Amino acid sequence: MHITCFGGIREIGGNKFLVEDGRTRIFLDFGQSFTHLDDYFVDWLQPRDRFGLRDYFALDLMPKVDGLYNDNALKPTNIKPQEPKFDAVFISHAHYDHVAHLRYLHETIPIYMGETCKTILESHMQTSGSFFFTERGFERPFAKTFVPPNKVKTFRTGHKIKLDSMEITPIHVDHSVPGAYGFIIHGSEGSLVYTGDIRSHGGKPELTGDFLKLAKESAPDALIIEGTRVAPTETRKNHTEQSVYTQSLEVAKADKLILAMRYPKDLDRFRTFHDIAKATGKTLVTTIKTAHLLMCLQGDIHFDTPHPFQDPHIKVYAREMLKPRPYEAEIKERFQCVDFDWVKNNQKKIIWELDFSQLQELIDVNPEPGGACIHSMSEPFEEDPLSQLQDEVLHNWLSRFSMTHHQFHASGHASSKEIFDICKDVAPKHVIPVHTSYPELFKDSVHAVRLAEKGERIQF
Ligand SMILES: [Zn+2]
Repeated sequence: MHITCFGGIREIGGNKFLVEDGRTRIFLDFGQSFTHLDDYFVDWLQPRDRFGLRDYFALDLMPKVDGLYNDNALKPTNIKPQEPKFDAVFISHAHYDHVAHLRYLHETIPIYMGETCKTILESHMQTSGSFFFTERGFERPFAKTFVPPNKVKTFRTGHKIKLDSMEITPIHVDHSVPGAYGFIIHGSEGSLVYTGDIRSHGGKPELTGDFLKLAKESAPDALIIEGTRVAPTETRKNHTEQSVYTQSLEVAKADKLILAMRYPKDLDRFRTFHDIAKATGKTLVTTIKTAHLLMCLQGDIHFDTPHPFQDPHIKVYAREMLKPRPYEAEIKERFQCVDFDWVKNNQKKIIWELDFSQLQELIDVNPEPGGACIHSMSEPFEEDPLSQLQDEVLHNWLSRFSMTHHQFHASGHASSKEIFDICKDVAPKHVIPVHTSYPELFKDSVHAVRLAEKGERIQF
């Protein structure tokens, strides 16, 4: 078997790994690289969507791989249309750095993902206007190019998917988005394990336990493992979902307006805030976007989510807008949402999920002094000036309205010690660190580390 890492090397994100077994060729994840994109683009300066892969190729931000991309993505680059040369792309979970480049994929290459993952992406496509795949194809507004549909095939944990000489088994893992998987892959002469993004301190650590047990039993030749938190110094606090609950609960008991900020797809955290609302007799006020996602997930028998318009502890906040997006207009028409007046009148009895980008709503609500904001997302990073700027702006808004700031967040990723323990426990012949800025640090703690270079074809 061969592995080629086209992304995720010395960077957090951009996972795009080619696995080959004889003539069978699959990709594991197909994400966007943030780090390399940041070298050339910032704020409004972004790759020109209307020119497909032209800007990406010119700046070496995407690999020029034959038989991988669709005609529309290639047309503006002067590369001729190509016959597909890959059998499938397997997606570990619905985060941007694992899926965002699916829109450039050749239309005849099937995409495999978990059922929940597909539901999350479909909801995201409707609420954000960004596209990863589509059942019918669509007309992009500016480019006037038709992006063809890919066949999306869904799996459940433990399914065995046979593609010629390869057998791929997805196994669920605990991560900060539902429907996340690792993969165990058997080829004609070897086996390989890919963790995707993984942790054991979230809402369902037992999922990761199931995956690691089978990963170990498969006695893999290679382990492709994430190392997001492997760094010279650990800056993130070691919160668990449970400790986020306990600490947030204390803050939420106050008789004042409580704001809660989390990542939109982090439904473990939604559940945590929902549980806190129930425990304090308050109402969790969430966004129309989250309501859309929760309603999409209602049909998912393996994933128990409250209905945003039927649960007694949830209300949905509708901003005053001149031109709501179609999904917002539809939800507002069909269901009863609450407005800023309602929030103002009930401020002592609610936990309000307010996005950073919608802080202006505080002006309309004008809360009584003494409220609190639970910031349940990553702390600002020293290396990321934008995150520091946002943090400063958030603090300015909070002090303007006399609200306190509380940082409680459980990371989506295992700690470096846990990652090294997984390597030792699974005991593969080769450990290939990915999705980390410091792959060489693995060498201090783990045997048989194979540092991959971007685009290098590794045989094992
Ligand atoms: Zn992730």
